[in-house]
Amino acid sequence: MFQCPVCGELMEILTNYHCMAKHHLTKKELVEKYGAPKYVSPTMSREVQNWIRESTIITRMDFDIAQAAVRSQLRRG
Ligand SMILES: [Zn+2]
Repeated sequence: MFQCPVCGELMEILTNYHCMAKHHLTKKELVEKYGAPKYVSPTMSREVQNWIRESTIITRMDFDIAQAAVRSQLRRG
């Protein structure tokens, strides 16, 4: 993964299209002005993926708790 040196957007590779569309510079001009795109190691994005998975599990638990609360209310009613 590469990170745009201007806006910090993560992408597979810094494209000329991104540079033109977002920064009105060619890739060459952008690299000359701001430096080469920063390489972000896949290990880091795997950690991010794990974090996303963990938050998904938390959301799922919250959902189950909410469902259980509704069920117990229905039983009471
Ligand atoms: Zn950018």
